[in-house]
Amino acid sequence: MTEQTQAFTIEQFYKHILQRKLMGAKCKKCGKVHLPPRPLCDSCFSKEFEWIESSPKGKLLTYTVIHVAPSQFQGMAPYAVGIVQLENGVKIPGMIRASPENIKIGMQLTMDFGTCAATQQWPQWPRYFFKPA
Ligand SMILES: [Zn+2]
Repeated sequence: MTEQTQAFTIEQFYKHILQRKLMGAKCKKCGKVHLPPRPLCDSCFSKEFEWIESSPKGKLLTYTVIHVAPSQFQGMAPYAVGIVQLENGVKIPGMIRASPENIKIGMQLTMDFGTCAATQQWPQWPRYFFKPA
C-alpha cells in the first residue's frame, strides 16, 4: 500500500465536502461512526479509524431559527440551523435552506453542497447545508 491515509481531521472532512462527499470516520475497534471525525473515539478511546461515506439523507430532530446572526451570516438571517439524524444514525448539525415556516421536526432532509453565500472573513471552506428531501 502506497496510498497515504488521510488524517481524520475537520480539515480533511471539509476537503471531502468539496468533492461533494459526506465522509465520516468509523472506529476500527468499536464501529462507532464519528461525523465530523475526531482524533479519539469517545466510545472506546481508540485512535484507529477508517473513512466511510455516509448517506446524505436524514430527518430533522430539532432546530432553531437564528435572527441575530454572527456577522458573516447576517445577510442570510433569519435562517434555521438544526440537528439532522442521518440514515446511519449519526447526528450532524447543519443549516437548513427552507423558509422557517416550512420547517417541521421529523421532516426528511437531504444534504446538499455549496459555497456559503455569506461574506467570508474566515477560512473559505466549502459548506454543506440541508434542504427538504
Ligand atoms: Zn471506538
